[in-house]
Amino acid sequence: MALDHLVRATCVRCGSHYGTQGLSTCPGCGIEGILDLEYDYDAVARTLTHESLRSRVGNQWRYLELLPVDGTREPPHPQVGMTPIYDVPRLAADVGVRALKLKDDGRNPTASFKDRASAVGVLKAREQGSDVIACASAGNAAASLAGFSAAMGLKSVIFVPERTPEPKVAQVLIFGGTVLRVKGSYDDAYAVCQDACARFGWYNRNCAVNPYLIEGKKTVGLELAEQLGEQLPDWVVLSVGDGCTLAGAWKGLWEMHRLGFISRLPRMLGVQAQGSAPLVDEFVRQEGSIRPVEARTLADSIAVGQPRNWRKALRAIRESRGAMLAVDDESILDAMRKTAQLAAVFTEPAGACAVAGLSRAVEQGIVGRDESALVVVTGNGLKDIRSATQASAQPINLPEDMAGLEQVLRARQLI
Ligand SMILES: *Cc1c(COP(=O)(O)O)cnc(C)c1O
Repeated sequence: MALDHLVRATCVRCGSHYGTQGLSTCPGCGIEGILDLEYDYDAVARTLTHESLRSRVGNQWRYLELLPVDGTREPPHPQVGMTPIYDVPRLAADVGVRALKLKDDGRNPTASFKDRASAVGVLKAREQGSDVIACASAGNAAASLAGFSAAMGLKSVIFVPERTPEPKVAQVLIFGGTVLRVKGSYDDAYAVCQDACARFGWYNRNCAVNPYLIEGKKTVGLELAEQLGEQLPDWVVLSVGDGCTLAGAWKGLWEMHRLGFISRLPRMLGVQAQGSAPLVDEFVRQEGSIRPVEARTLADSIAVGQPRNWRKALRAIRESRGAMLAVDDESILDAMRKTAQLAAVFTEPAGACAVAGLSRAVEQGIVGRDESALVVVTGNGLKDIRSATQASAQPINLPEDMAGLEQVLRARQLI
Protein backbone atom coordinates (compact mmCIF):
# COMPACT_ATOMS: atom_id res chain seq x y z
CA MET A 1 0.00 0.00 0.00
CA ALA A 2 2.45 2.69 1.15
CA LEU A 3 4.91 1.60 -1.51
CA ASP A 4 2.45 2.74 -4.21
CA HIS A 5 3.01 6.35 -3.20
CA LEU A 6 6.76 6.26 -3.73
CA VAL A 7 7.70 7.98 -6.98
CA ARG A 8 11.48 7.95 -7.21
CA ALA A 9 14.79 8.39 -5.45
CA THR A 10 17.08 11.33 -6.25
CA CYS A 11 20.81 11.60 -5.57
CA VAL A 12 21.52 14.62 -3.35
CA ARG A 13 24.88 15.11 -5.08
CA CYS A 14 24.31 14.70 -8.83
CA GLY A 15 20.50 14.81 -9.06
CA SER A 16 20.17 11.45 -10.92
CA HIS A 17 16.88 9.62 -10.45
CA TYR A 18 16.38 5.99 -9.53
CA GLY A 19 13.59 3.54 -8.76
CA THR A 20 12.53 3.13 -5.16
CA GLN A 21 13.38 -0.45 -4.19
CA GLY A 22 16.56 -2.16 -2.99
CA LEU A 23 18.47 1.10 -2.73
CA SER A 24 21.64 2.12 -0.98
CA THR A 25 23.66 5.02 -2.46
CA CYS A 26 23.89 6.48 -6.00
CA PRO A 27 26.00 4.12 -8.15
CA GLY A 28 27.64 7.10 -9.87
CA CYS A 29 28.59 9.07 -6.76
CA GLY A 30 29.23 6.17 -4.37
CA ILE A 31 29.20 6.97 -0.66
CA GLU A 32 28.81 10.71 -1.38
CA GLY A 33 25.61 10.07 -3.32
CA ILE A 34 22.97 9.73 -0.60
CA LEU A 35 19.50 9.20 -2.02
CA ASP A 36 16.30 11.04 -1.13
CA LEU A 37 12.88 9.43 -1.60
CA GLU A 38 10.00 11.35 -3.14
CA TYR A 39 6.29 10.58 -2.88
CA ASP A 40 3.23 11.35 -5.00
CA TYR A 41 1.90 14.01 -2.63
CA ASP A 42 -1.38 14.51 -4.50
CA ALA A 43 -2.15 10.84 -4.07
CA VAL A 44 -1.05 10.94 -0.40
CA ALA A 45 -3.29 13.96 0.26
CA ARG A 46 -6.34 11.98 -0.81
CA THR A 47 -6.10 9.58 2.13
CA LEU A 48 -3.87 11.33 4.71
CA THR A 49 -6.23 13.94 6.14
CA HIS A 50 -7.14 15.41 9.54
CA GLU A 51 -10.25 13.30 9.33
CA SER A 52 -8.53 9.98 8.62
CA LEU A 53 -5.78 10.64 11.19
CA ARG A 54 -8.35 10.93 13.94
CA SER A 55 -9.05 7.20 13.90
CA ARG A 56 -5.51 5.94 13.37
CA VAL A 57 -2.99 4.26 15.69
CA GLY A 58 -1.20 6.53 18.16
CA ASN A 59 2.31 5.85 16.87
CA GLN A 60 4.40 6.64 13.82
CA TRP A 61 2.62 4.08 11.61
CA ARG A 62 -0.30 6.52 11.44
CA TYR A 63 1.63 8.18 8.59
CA LEU A 64 1.83 5.01 6.52
CA GLU A 65 1.33 6.81 3.19
CA LEU A 66 4.57 8.67 3.82
CA LEU A 67 6.66 5.69 4.90
CA PRO A 68 8.59 3.45 2.47
CA VAL A 69 7.25 0.18 3.88
CA ASP A 70 4.85 -2.47 2.75
CA GLY A 71 1.72 -1.61 4.74
CA THR A 72 0.39 -5.15 4.58
CA ARG A 73 3.15 -6.39 6.90
CA GLU A 74 2.79 -6.32 10.64
CA PRO A 75 5.06 -3.58 12.06
CA PRO A 76 7.16 -4.16 15.22
CA HIS A 77 4.96 -3.79 18.29
CA PRO A 78 6.83 -1.33 20.57
CA GLN A 79 5.22 2.11 20.59
CA VAL A 80 7.31 4.52 18.50
CA GLY A 81 6.60 8.21 18.16
CA MET A 82 3.67 10.44 19.15
CA THR A 83 5.92 11.56 21.99
CA PRO A 84 4.67 14.34 24.26
CA ILE A 85 5.31 18.06 23.81
CA TYR A 86 5.61 20.25 26.92
CA ASP A 87 5.44 23.99 27.46
CA VAL A 88 8.40 24.90 29.68
CA PRO A 89 8.14 28.59 30.65
CA ARG A 90 10.86 28.55 33.35
CA LEU A 91 13.41 27.11 30.91
CA ALA A 92 12.16 29.60 28.28
CA ALA A 93 12.94 32.48 30.66
CA ASP A 94 16.40 31.10 31.34
CA VAL A 95 17.16 30.58 27.64
CA GLY A 96 15.77 34.01 26.82
CA VAL A 97 12.95 33.26 24.35
CA ARG A 98 9.29 34.28 24.57
CA ALA A 99 8.06 30.68 24.60
CA LEU A 100 9.73 27.29 24.61
CA LYS A 101 8.45 23.77 24.10
CA LEU A 102 10.26 20.45 24.48
CA LYS A 103 9.33 17.34 22.54
CA ASP A 104 10.54 14.44 24.65
CA ASP A 105 11.79 11.75 22.30
CA GLY A 106 13.60 10.09 25.17
CA ARG A 107 10.16 8.54 25.74
CA ASN A 108 10.58 6.14 22.82
CA PRO A 109 10.91 2.37 23.54
CA THR A 110 14.71 2.29 23.83
CA ALA A 111 14.80 5.88 25.12
CA SER A 112 16.01 7.73 22.04
CA PHE A 113 14.89 9.30 18.80
CA LYS A 114 16.68 6.53 16.87
CA ASP A 115 13.71 4.19 17.37
CA ARG A 116 11.89 6.07 14.63
CA ALA A 117 14.50 4.90 12.13
CA SER A 118 15.11 1.42 13.54
CA ALA A 119 11.41 0.58 13.33
CA VAL A 120 11.54 1.22 9.59
CA GLY A 121 14.92 -0.54 9.27
CA VAL A 122 13.78 -3.86 10.70
CA LEU A 123 10.70 -3.83 8.47
CA LYS A 124 12.85 -3.25 5.38
CA ALA A 125 15.22 -6.02 6.46
CA ARG A 126 12.23 -8.38 6.73
CA GLU A 127 10.82 -7.28 3.37
CA GLN A 128 14.16 -8.12 1.79
CA GLY A 129 14.36 -11.48 3.54
CA SER A 130 17.40 -10.70 5.72
CA ASP A 131 17.74 -12.37 9.13
CA VAL A 132 20.74 -10.31 10.18
CA ILE A 133 20.78 -6.54 10.42
CA ALA A 134 23.89 -4.55 11.26
CA CYS A 135 24.84 -1.02 12.11
CA ALA A 136 27.64 1.14 13.41
CA SER A 137 26.58 3.40 16.17
CA ALA A 138 27.81 5.80 18.77
CA GLY A 139 25.32 4.01 21.03
CA ASN A 140 21.67 4.96 20.58
CA ALA A 141 21.19 3.48 17.13
CA ALA A 142 22.81 0.33 18.52
CA ALA A 143 20.45 0.04 21.48
CA SER A 144 17.54 0.87 19.25
CA LEU A 145 18.38 -1.59 16.50
CA ALA A 146 18.91 -4.36 19.05
CA GLY A 147 15.52 -3.59 20.61
CA PHE A 148 13.65 -3.57 17.34
CA SER A 149 15.45 -6.68 16.12
CA ALA A 150 14.23 -8.40 19.26
CA ALA A 151 10.71 -7.23 18.42
CA MET A 152 10.92 -8.79 14.95
CA GLY A 153 12.95 -11.89 15.82
CA LEU A 154 15.96 -10.76 13.79
CA LYS A 155 19.64 -11.02 14.73
CA SER A 156 21.52 -7.77 15.21
CA VAL A 157 25.25 -7.17 14.86
CA ILE A 158 26.39 -3.88 16.28
CA PHE A 159 29.73 -2.12 15.83
CA VAL A 160 30.39 0.48 18.52
CA PRO A 161 33.39 2.69 19.29
CA GLU A 162 35.43 1.86 22.39
CA ARG A 163 34.09 4.79 24.39
CA THR A 164 30.38 4.00 24.11
CA PRO A 165 28.67 4.58 27.50
CA GLU A 166 28.03 1.38 29.42
CA PRO A 167 24.23 1.80 29.69
CA LYS A 168 23.90 1.80 25.91
CA VAL A 169 26.06 -1.31 25.57
CA ALA A 170 23.95 -2.94 28.30
CA GLN A 171 20.80 -2.19 26.30
CA VAL A 172 22.18 -3.91 23.20
CA LEU A 173 23.27 -6.95 25.19
CA ILE A 174 20.02 -7.43 27.06
CA PHE A 175 18.11 -7.32 23.76
CA GLY A 176 20.36 -10.11 22.51
CA GLY A 177 22.43 -8.11 20.03
CA THR A 178 26.05 -8.99 19.30
CA VAL A 179 28.28 -6.11 20.32
CA LEU A 180 31.56 -5.66 18.48
CA ARG A 181 33.67 -2.99 20.13
CA VAL A 182 35.93 -1.38 17.56
CA LYS A 183 39.20 0.12 18.71
CA GLY A 184 38.90 3.79 17.81
CA SER A 185 36.14 6.27 17.06
CA TYR A 186 32.62 6.06 15.65
CA ASP A 187 34.09 6.70 12.22
CA ASP A 188 36.32 3.63 12.58
CA ALA A 189 33.35 1.52 13.68
CA TYR A 190 31.40 2.80 10.69
CA ALA A 191 34.14 1.76 8.25
CA VAL A 192 34.35 -1.79 9.62
CA CYS A 193 30.56 -2.13 9.55
CA GLN A 194 30.32 -1.04 5.91
CA ASP A 195 32.92 -3.63 4.90
CA ALA A 196 31.27 -6.37 6.95
CA CYS A 197 27.83 -5.72 5.43
CA ALA A 198 29.31 -5.87 1.94
CA ARG A 199 31.18 -9.09 2.73
CA PHE A 200 28.48 -11.02 4.60
CA GLY A 201 25.34 -9.67 2.93
CA TRP A 202 23.77 -8.34 6.14
CA TYR A 203 21.07 -5.69 5.99
CA ASN A 204 22.75 -2.33 6.61
CA ARG A 205 20.92 -0.04 8.99
CA ASN A 206 23.42 2.82 8.79
CA CYS A 207 21.30 5.91 8.22
CA ALA A 208 24.04 7.50 6.22
CA VAL A 209 23.75 5.07 3.34
CA ASN A 210 20.26 3.67 3.79
CA PRO A 211 17.70 6.08 2.30
CA TYR A 212 14.71 4.37 3.95
CA LEU A 213 15.72 5.09 7.52
CA ILE A 214 15.58 8.86 7.31
CA GLU A 215 11.93 8.36 6.38
CA GLY A 216 11.42 7.02 9.90
CA LYS A 217 13.26 10.00 11.36
CA LYS A 218 11.06 12.41 9.47
CA THR A 219 8.03 11.27 11.47
CA VAL A 220 9.14 13.68 14.21
CA GLY A 221 8.47 16.51 11.74
CA LEU A 222 5.14 15.00 10.69
CA GLU A 223 4.14 14.80 14.35
CA LEU A 224 5.21 18.34 15.16
CA ALA A 225 3.00 19.61 12.36
CA GLU A 226 0.06 17.43 13.36
CA GLN A 227 0.37 18.01 17.12
CA LEU A 228 0.94 21.76 16.95
CA GLY A 229 -0.61 22.86 13.65
CA GLU A 230 -0.61 26.65 13.47
CA GLN A 231 0.97 26.75 16.96
CA LEU A 232 4.28 25.60 15.49
CA PRO A 233 7.04 27.79 16.95
CA ASP A 234 9.33 30.07 14.97
CA TRP A 235 12.33 27.75 15.45
CA VAL A 236 12.82 23.99 15.71
CA VAL A 237 16.12 23.11 17.38
CA LEU A 238 18.04 19.82 17.10
CA SER A 239 21.52 18.63 17.88
CA VAL A 240 23.51 17.40 14.91
CA GLY A 241 26.04 14.61 14.49
CA ASP A 242 25.71 13.04 11.06
CA GLY A 243 22.95 15.42 9.98
CA CYS A 244 20.33 12.79 9.13
CA THR A 245 18.12 13.65 12.11
CA LEU A 246 17.81 17.35 11.35
CA ALA A 247 17.33 16.66 7.65
CA GLY A 248 14.62 14.14 8.48
CA ALA A 249 12.75 16.49 10.81
CA TRP A 250 12.78 19.17 8.12
CA LYS A 251 11.54 16.74 5.48
CA GLY A 252 8.58 15.80 7.67
CA LEU A 253 7.69 19.43 8.29
CA TRP A 254 8.08 20.24 4.61
CA GLU A 255 5.79 17.37 3.62
CA MET A 256 3.07 18.45 6.05
CA HIS A 257 3.29 21.93 4.57
CA ARG A 258 3.06 20.48 1.06
CA LEU A 259 0.00 18.48 2.14
CA GLY A 260 -1.68 21.57 3.60
CA PHE A 261 -1.58 20.62 7.30
CA ILE A 262 0.40 23.76 8.16
CA SER A 263 0.50 27.12 6.41
CA ARG A 264 4.05 28.13 7.33
CA LEU A 265 7.29 26.39 8.14
CA PRO A 266 9.57 26.96 11.13
CA ARG A 267 13.26 27.78 10.80
CA MET A 268 15.73 25.03 11.73
CA LEU A 269 18.55 25.58 14.21
CA GLY A 270 21.22 22.87 14.13
CA VAL A 271 23.61 22.62 17.06
CA GLN A 272 26.89 20.72 17.24
CA ALA A 273 29.37 20.16 20.04
CA GLN A 274 32.43 22.35 19.60
CA GLY A 275 34.81 19.38 19.55
CA SER A 276 32.86 17.79 16.70
CA ALA A 277 31.47 20.50 14.46
CA PRO A 278 32.36 19.88 10.81
CA LEU A 279 28.85 20.87 9.66
CA VAL A 280 29.00 24.21 11.45
CA ASP A 281 32.38 24.70 9.84
CA GLU A 282 30.95 24.11 6.36
CA PHE A 283 27.87 26.23 7.17
CA VAL A 284 30.27 29.12 7.77
CA ARG A 285 32.75 28.39 4.95
CA GLN A 286 30.22 27.47 2.24
CA GLU A 287 32.78 25.59 0.19
CA GLY A 288 30.59 22.68 -0.82
CA SER A 289 32.69 20.10 0.99
CA ILE A 290 33.24 18.80 4.47
CA ARG A 291 36.50 18.75 6.43
CA PRO A 292 36.48 15.69 8.70
CA VAL A 293 37.68 16.19 12.26
CA GLU A 294 38.68 13.95 15.12
CA ALA A 295 35.54 14.16 17.24
CA ARG A 296 36.06 15.18 20.87
CA THR A 297 33.01 15.80 23.04
CA LEU A 298 31.26 14.18 25.97
CA ALA A 299 28.03 14.25 23.92
CA ASP A 300 28.84 10.81 22.50
CA SER A 301 25.67 10.58 20.37
CA ILE A 302 26.79 13.47 18.22
CA ALA A 303 30.51 12.73 18.19
CA VAL A 304 30.67 12.23 14.43
CA GLY A 305 33.91 13.46 12.88
CA GLN A 306 33.00 12.51 9.33
CA PRO A 307 29.31 13.22 8.76
CA ARG A 308 27.66 11.62 5.72
CA ASN A 309 24.37 13.48 5.57
CA TRP A 310 25.82 16.98 5.64
CA ARG A 311 24.36 17.88 2.22
CA LYS A 312 20.83 16.99 3.31
CA ALA A 313 21.25 18.76 6.64
CA LEU A 314 22.71 21.95 5.21
CA ARG A 315 20.02 22.00 2.54
CA ALA A 316 17.41 21.87 5.31
CA ILE A 317 19.11 24.76 7.09
CA ARG A 318 19.25 26.77 3.85
CA GLU A 319 15.67 26.04 2.75
CA SER A 320 14.31 26.94 6.18
CA ARG A 321 16.43 30.12 6.43
CA GLY A 322 17.89 28.54 9.54
CA ALA A 323 21.28 28.59 11.23
CA MET A 324 23.95 26.40 12.79
CA LEU A 325 26.30 26.92 15.68
CA ALA A 326 28.44 24.99 18.15
CA VAL A 327 28.61 24.94 21.96
CA ASP A 328 31.28 23.63 24.31
CA ASP A 329 30.94 20.65 26.66
CA GLU A 330 30.63 22.84 29.73
CA SER A 331 27.56 24.58 28.29
CA ILE A 332 26.12 21.16 27.43
CA LEU A 333 26.42 19.96 31.03
CA ASP A 334 24.98 23.24 32.24
CA ALA A 335 21.99 22.86 29.90
CA MET A 336 21.55 19.24 30.99
CA ARG A 337 21.12 20.36 34.59
CA LYS A 338 18.82 23.27 33.69
CA THR A 339 16.61 21.14 31.45
CA ALA A 340 16.13 18.74 34.35
CA GLN A 341 15.61 21.39 37.03
CA LEU A 342 13.59 23.99 35.09
CA ALA A 343 11.65 21.68 32.77
CA ALA A 344 11.68 18.29 34.51
CA VAL A 345 13.04 16.52 31.44
CA PHE A 346 16.12 14.35 31.96
CA THR A 347 18.12 14.44 28.75
CA GLU A 348 21.41 12.95 27.70
CA PRO A 349 24.13 15.42 26.65
CA ALA A 350 23.13 15.38 22.96
CA GLY A 351 19.65 16.66 23.81
CA ALA A 352 21.09 19.25 26.15
CA CYS A 353 23.39 20.40 23.37
CA ALA A 354 20.32 21.68 21.49
CA VAL A 355 19.12 23.60 24.55
CA ALA A 356 22.58 25.12 25.03
CA GLY A 357 22.66 26.04 21.34
CA LEU A 358 19.35 27.84 21.58
CA SER A 359 20.69 29.94 24.49
CA ARG A 360 23.76 30.78 22.45
CA ALA A 361 21.64 31.67 19.39
CA VAL A 362 19.64 34.11 21.53
CA GLU A 363 22.86 35.68 22.86
CA GLN A 364 24.10 36.10 19.31
CA GLY A 365 20.84 37.63 18.08
CA ILE A 366 20.15 34.74 15.66
CA VAL A 367 16.96 33.90 17.55
CA GLY A 368 15.00 36.93 18.79
CA ARG A 369 13.89 37.29 22.41
CA ASP A 370 10.33 37.79 21.12
CA GLU A 371 10.42 34.51 19.20
CA SER A 372 9.26 31.01 20.12
CA ALA A 373 11.18 27.74 19.84
CA LEU A 374 10.86 23.99 20.24
CA VAL A 375 13.75 21.70 21.15
CA VAL A 376 13.56 18.02 20.32
CA VAL A 377 15.09 16.16 23.27
CA THR A 378 16.58 13.26 21.37
CA GLY A 379 17.67 10.91 24.15
CA ASN A 380 17.04 10.10 27.81
CA GLY A 381 19.55 11.07 30.50
CA LEU A 382 19.87 7.56 31.93
CA LYS A 383 21.75 6.70 28.74
CA ASP A 384 24.81 8.44 30.14
CA ILE A 385 24.81 8.64 33.91
CA ARG A 386 28.46 9.64 34.05
CA SER A 387 27.63 12.97 32.40
CA ALA A 388 24.54 13.38 34.56
CA THR A 389 26.63 12.94 37.69
CA GLN A 390 29.19 15.36 36.34
CA ALA A 391 26.48 17.94 35.68
CA SER A 392 24.89 17.81 39.11
CA ALA A 393 25.56 18.18 42.83
CA GLN A 394 26.94 15.25 44.81
CA PRO A 395 24.91 13.24 47.34
CA ILE A 396 25.49 14.16 50.98
CA ASN A 397 26.90 11.55 53.30
CA LEU A 398 24.93 11.73 56.50
CA PRO A 399 26.33 11.36 60.01
CA GLU A 400 24.20 9.01 62.11
CA ASP A 401 22.79 11.52 64.61
CA MET A 402 20.25 14.36 64.42
CA ALA A 403 22.80 17.02 65.29
CA GLY A 404 24.84 15.94 62.32
CA LEU A 405 21.78 16.11 60.07
CA GLU A 406 20.93 19.62 61.24
CA GLN A 407 24.48 20.74 60.63
CA VAL A 408 24.41 19.42 57.09
CA LEU A 409 21.01 20.96 56.33
CA ARG A 410 22.05 24.32 57.76
CA ALA A 411 25.22 24.36 55.68
CA ARG A 412 23.06 23.83 52.59
CA GLN A 413 20.50 26.39 53.70
CA LEU A 414 17.78 23.75 53.64
CA ILE A 415 16.54 24.74 57.11
C1 LIG B 1 21.87 10.26 16.69
C2 LIG B 1 21.53 11.30 17.67
C3 LIG B 1 21.51 12.67 17.34
C4 LIG B 1 21.92 13.25 16.04
O1 LIG B 1 21.49 12.62 14.88
P1 LIG B 1 22.34 12.67 13.55
O2 LIG B 1 21.48 12.06 12.54
O3 LIG B 1 23.60 11.91 13.80
O4 LIG B 1 22.65 14.11 13.26
C5 LIG B 1 21.11 13.54 18.34
N1 LIG B 1 20.78 13.12 19.58
C6 LIG B 1 20.78 11.83 19.91
C7 LIG B 1 20.40 11.45 21.30
C8 LIG B 1 21.15 10.88 18.99
O5 LIG B 1 21.19 9.58 19.36
